[in-house]
Amino acid sequence: MIDRSALDRIVQAGGFISARAGSAPEANSIPVPKHNADLAMEAAACIGCGACAAACPNGSAMLFTSAKVSHLALLPQGDPERESRVLKMVQVMDAEGFGNCTNTYECEAVCPAEISASFIAKLNREYARARFRRSMGE
Ligand code: SF4
Repeated sequence: MIDRSALDRIVQAGGFISARAGSAPEANSIPVPKHNADLAMEAAACIGCGACAAACPNGSAMLFTSAKVSHLALLPQGDPERESRVLKMVQVMDAEGFGNCTNTYECEAVCPAEISASFIAKLNREYARARFRRSMGE
């Protein structure tokens, strides 16, 4: 049995959007560029199994976290909480004791959802962008 609760706590830190629940909105009321929609769907394929962190020699959960951060950052619905989400999720990821990524690509090789390691670069960009915007007081 695998204890995946650390991954759940990362998602609890920000892997969601805050929206009023109600009837389903008209599907075409929020346009999403095709490229972004495709990438978001790829990232959303992550099932949170933890195989990436288990296979990583650094015990890094960056493929998992990058998939969760990216799939919301790529969509307009995720935009309002874009900065706070990545900052909180990375903070919890670090607090849980996961290691840092050194580009061994073991995660990508074992991922059953074929999540691309390129999402880790997206996570790093999202984090840098959030830190910069916070430092500018935005
Ligand atoms: S191995 Fe793939 S599907 Fe499993 S948690 Fe990591 S990124 Fe998600």
